[in-house]
Amino acid sequence: MAAKIIDGKAHAARLRARVASGVAEYKLMAGRVPGLAVVLVGEDPASAVYVRNKVRQTLEVSMASFEHKLPAETSQTDLIALIEALNTDQRVDGILVQLPLPKPLDELAVVSAIDPDKDVDGLHVVSAGRLASGIPGLVSCTPLGCMMLLRDTLGDDLSGKDAVVIGRSILVGKPVAQLLLAANCTVTVAHSRTQNLPEVVRRADIVVAAVGCAEMVKADWIKPGACVIDVGINRVPSDIPGKTKLVGDVAFAEVAQVAGSISPVPGGVGPMTIACLLHNTLQAAHQRSGLVNK
Ligand code: NDP
Repeated sequence: MAAKIIDGKAHAARLRARVASGVAEYKLMAGRVPGLAVVLVGEDPASAVYVRNKVRQTLEVSMASFEHKLPAETSQTDLIALIEALNTDQRVDGILVQLPLPKPLDELAVVSAIDPDKDVDGLHVVSAGRLASGIPGLVSCTPLGCMMLLRDTLGDDLSGKDAVVIGRSILVGKPVAQLLLAANCTVTVAHSRTQNLPEVVRRADIVVAAVGCAEMVKADWIKPGACVIDVGINRVPSDIPGKTKLVGDVAFAEVAQVAGSISPVPGGVGPMTIACLLHNTLQAAHQRSGLVNK
């Protein structure tokens, strides 16, 4: 039986619409709109596209956008001074520094300079610590997007499900595992040293693949009916000579014959990431002003 395709684009559009109405309500209560500051250092073309999309979508939900474009040769001291100014700027609820930063800037030091209550990317060690300790806080956007897609597909109660996360990065694998654990799943985190990976994955009711290895997860790794969330983004040659295409970490066509539900690449987790950034900014605004986020 063919799997249900999890439509991340449609889900992200619904989330943005909810954020937009949340922004309107917040404005009525707080007398201002939430604000997101995005900092781009250098000329990396992919980063410039991401920042453009973030700014556009911020404005589309009627939040205030504060864009800071700095030259690649910006010093660590100047960058941290900007972040400290944004930390105290009352119009700014969320701060995002677009990564990767040009060398020799120290990403850990820069992210650590962000006020954790404005850390809408969820990458500060305090955000990671809050997540691991079960203390409410800001959760990084891609893992949060994965959980929203899972809950939308399987229902709110994920308790008791066997979940296998492939990948243990700070950006995706570890926070997804923490969130699944908090949702009372039995969680296995697999990585490059895992033995018998197909066998480990075959136990799972939920598979989250966050590896960066094109179409690695095959149909015979999947328990019939499992829910498969594919985070991977890999560029591979397409059938058209000289052109490339995007694929995930999951061999989509064959796995879709076995899984109960599966998120595609593109159009699955990817669109959720910026929508979750907007969601986090609204949440940060509510938390900072002591208002309830409905
Ligand atoms: P990292 O490279 O930081 O981590 C990859 C993880 O995969 C590591 O934990 C690594 O294990 C593990 N791994 C590598 N090879 C294997 C293997 N053969 N078997 C099992 N595990 C393996 O990547 P990220 O977590 O940052 O990203 C993962 C993917 O998700 C990438 O394709 C990235 O582009 C995509 N991505 C997509 C986003 C979106 O918005 N949709 C956002 C962020 C990332 P080990 O720790 O042992 O080295």
